[in-house]
Parts: sequence; structure tokens; C-alpha cells
Amino acid sequence: MPGIHTIEISAEPAVAGDRDTIGGWPLLAAGEPWPACFCGKPMAFFFQVGVPAFGGDQLLVFQCPVHDDVTFGPPQLPDRYWDEVTEPYEGPFWRLLFRSGGTPSPGPEPLLEARRLVLHPAEETVDDTGRGLPGFKLGGVPSWAQSPEHYRCACGTDMVFLCQVPENYGFDLWPMRDRNDQVQLFLGNELYVMACPARCHPEAAWPALQN
Ligand SMILES: [Zn+2]
Ligand SMILES: [Zn+2]
Repeated sequence: MPGIHTIEISAEPAVAGDRDTIGGWPLLAAGEPWPACFCGKPMAFFFQVGVPAFGGDQLLVFQCPVHDDVTFGPPQLPDRYWDEVTEPYEGPFWRLLFRSGGTPSPGPEPLLEARRLVLHPAEETVDDTGRGLPGFKLGGVPSWAQSPEHYRCACGTDMVFLCQVPENYGFDLWPMRDRNDQVQLFLGNELYVMACPARCHPEAAWPALQN
């Protein structure tokens, strides 16, 4: 099996310029505005990681802290699906961005506690149902909570699995008011980030969601 990286959330605070973080300073393109939800609120910046399979480009994950429901798309995703598939809302409420290089934003994400992520090389293990390791990881095979899903990018390329966030994963709010002060991506569904290996667009990624 191909190697994977398991993702550990360290206790160390993130600083501007860190590439692998929860919260903190997203490495956006120079001068790029902070993503906003269709509702007008700034999206929360959940995490970023450098993706070895994509030449070390950054994957950046944003979602509105209010609009956080599950989205569904057809197996053949339509043109500009990152803007056009907005169910169950009336406009885009999440962003999965790829950026190369990147410049730290002027300030950090205000809602989340900024922590460094540590990537550990590991071996993928696939069980006899074809599911990979559970947990927060980069690469390998999804640990599908339900049946495997397949997506084709609008450009016609079959999408590949890049990154998994486990079910009910809570991101700590900052400042912490009590232990339950956490936010979740997509109502805490397990998130499988699927991406277009043809790299047809810097937003050519799709959030497959299961519980
Ligand atoms: Zn919103
Ligand atoms: Zn594509």
C-alpha cells in the first residue's frame, strides 16, 4: 500500500508561516481576501496541510461557523461545483483551496485555538472490506463510514482521496470557555476530501461526507 501521513494535533501554538496548522494563519495567495460565506460572515479557517502528493501545495479548509450542514453532490460533479453545489443553502458555505507557496494572512483565525499539526509517515492498512485506517490522515484509503463513494471532477477526471477528518471531530474554540466549546465541520460528519488529480482548478476538491 502507498504510504500515508497520520496527522497529530500538537499542544504547540501555531505561528504565522507554519504550513501545517489548525486555525492560525492560512497561507493564501498574496493579497487574497479571507473567504466569506454566502451569508456575509468570514468563514472559519479550520486547518491547512501541505500535501506531498500535490507537490507540497497547501490544502486549506474553511467553513462558515453558522452554516455547517452536510452538502451532497452527484457523482459527476457539475462545472464550478465549488461555487455551484450549495445544498442545503443558497450559496457557498465551505472552501477547500489549494495554494502553492502562499503568504500568511495578516491575522490569525479569531475563533479557533491555533495549534501546530505534526505529520507522521505511516503505512496504510486496508481491511477486508477495502477500508483504510480511521483517524485524521493524509493519503491512503478512506475508512468510509458507509459505502464507498466515487466522484468525477467537472473536467472528466476521476477524483482521488486526499485527506480524512474523523467523525465528530471537535475543533477547539479560542478562548475556550468550557470543554464543550468546539466547532465541527459539516455537523461532525466524517470528511473525506476528494481532489482532482489533473489539478484543473485551485478549488477542484469536493467534501464527501458520511456518518
Ligand atoms: Zn454562513
Ligand atoms: Zn478536474
